[in-house]
Amino acid sequence: MARAKAFPNAFGLTVRYAMKALPTAAVIQIMDRAGIHIDASSGFEAARAIRAGVAPEKIQITAQELPVNLQELVAQGVLFNACSLHQLDQYGQTFPGSEISVRMNPGLGSGHSNRTNVGGPSASFGIWHEHLEEVQATAARHNLQITGLHTHIGSGSDPDTWVHCANLSLGLAARMPDVIRLSLGGGYKVARVEGEKATDFDVIGPPVRAAFEAFADAHGRKLHLEVEPGTFLVANAGALIADAADVVDTGETGYRFIKLNAGMTEILRPSLYGAQHPIVVVPRDDSSRGTARYLVVGHCCESGDVLTPAPGNPEELAPRMLCETRIGDAVVIEGAGAYCSSMPSKNYNSFPECAEVLLESGGAFRQIRKRQSLDQLLENEIAG
Ligand SMILES: *Cc1c(COP(=O)(O)O)cnc(C)c1O
Repeated sequence: MARAKAFPNAFGLTVRYAMKALPTAAVIQIMDRAGIHIDASSGFEAARAIRAGVAPEKIQITAQELPVNLQELVAQGVLFNACSLHQLDQYGQTFPGSEISVRMNPGLGSGHSNRTNVGGPSASFGIWHEHLEEVQATAARHNLQITGLHTHIGSGSDPDTWVHCANLSLGLAARMPDVIRLSLGGGYKVARVEGEKATDFDVIGPPVRAAFEAFADAHGRKLHLEVEPGTFLVANAGALIADAADVVDTGETGYRFIKLNAGMTEILRPSLYGAQHPIVVVPRDDSSRGTARYLVVGHCCESGDVLTPAPGNPEELAPRMLCETRIGDAVVIEGAGAYCSSMPSKNYNSFPECAEVLLESGGAFRQIRKRQSLDQLLENEIAG
């Protein structure tokens, strides 16, 4: 959190936690206490943050779907970042004469796969940069003042991409005279496994700061920088702790499998993107163990429920060298803080949602979410 707040900036910085990464109330409260604001991906997320105790003015909604409760949220003070011409028009009809932010797609792609790419022509996020005149016409029609510009493309760890994105964004800001804050979104890479490259703020930050300074010299506007890390703030703070529920094999020419009492119902990233997470087997006894190659699979009756896919390719399997495993051993999946608990294939095979436990800085464990019960899982069903 301290590192995110120290991101190099010329004229001030607001850090928003992209709460979709891990939206549990206790986690939101930790961010709030640290002075971090909130990026909400839906009206429900905004309402959830308010219930967790966040002041509405500290929440900005950037959503694919226009929230049905937008009027109520904005009336409370929540900020809105329009992500399409339709959203901008709807906001203008409801709140004519007010301030707004718009999300533009500056025409640049990044992200680690097609599935996480949030900029460029193949991404639906934000308003395509060539439609800026329509943005201005829509705003003018409703007397809206566009004071915020947002261009989250998931810039990753490549410094050239950050500078290029900042420059494209500043180019748009130059044509939007009321803009006083510019959000470059999130997407800082973290290294979960060896070989992955983390974003280095000392490398990407200074050129971005210099670009803001040059913009101020040229246009007389000292833009306030906003960033919206999700992954960066929580990814390596969380682990999934499971048991080896079974150990099986498919013969001499086949594979050895560790079956967990968890899986895509808790962590979907490997199946979805071929994401790599460190896996550590913790023997329950003190017998000496060798190592062996295993595929680690989840508990769902679904061949895609795999925790050891090839990097970036969920279609392919990549057996991993692990401690020789016996039934009942603990298996820890690390780097599971972001987009795991928040993005599971919840309740598939009718497995209830798992509990969450927070390890406090003093060393104490505190349960922050209870395990779901079967009754809760069935709560909304209407039997014949
Ligand atoms: C998801 C999201 C983020 C955070 O992305 P990370 O890759 O987790 O840092 C930031 N801004 C917006 C608008 C998002 O949708």
